[in-house]
Amino acid sequence: MVITEPNPILRKIAQPITSFSNKELDDLIELLFKTMQDKNGVGLSAPQIGVSKRIFVYGFEINKRYPDAPPVPKTIIINPEILNVSTDSIDLEEGCLSVPHRRGIITRSKSIVFTSMDPDGKIYQKTVHDFEARIVQHEIDHLNGILISDRASVLRSTDIA
Ligand code: ZN
Repeated sequence: MVITEPNPILRKIAQPITSFSNKELDDLIELLFKTMQDKNGVGLSAPQIGVSKRIFVYGFEINKRYPDAPPVPKTIIINPEILNVSTDSIDLEEGCLSVPHRRGIITRSKSIVFTSMDPDGKIYQKTVHDFEARIVQHEIDHLNGILISDRASVLRSTDIA
């Protein structure tokens, strides 16, 4: 189940993952991927399924909600910390499974550099661009209680969930 506004968990600062290489974390990752795929999401964060933890997943081959988006590899991000964002930005209409049937133009950095941890707790650095950078920025917003309604000046109604 994907929770939607006005559920207060979507507005909380999520807590870091502190325990790695265990079944609880593996099960959470599996549930995030399964829920994202069931809802045709391009990404999904733990707060959106009611778990206030700093973890999200993303990735798809073809996506119904963003048919023009190029494929993005399936990725797990844990405890991300942004190191650098490009001054170049892109405006694109964006939606959110937790803000259903609404979309708005959001300005996001074209590229970002950040650190993540893997499911074994190892830290690595990652650089992402374009649509993937947009997804990462959107999902990090979820970990900080920020929704598209805070980023877009106007949201329009759409049939797309
Ligand atoms: Zn979202």
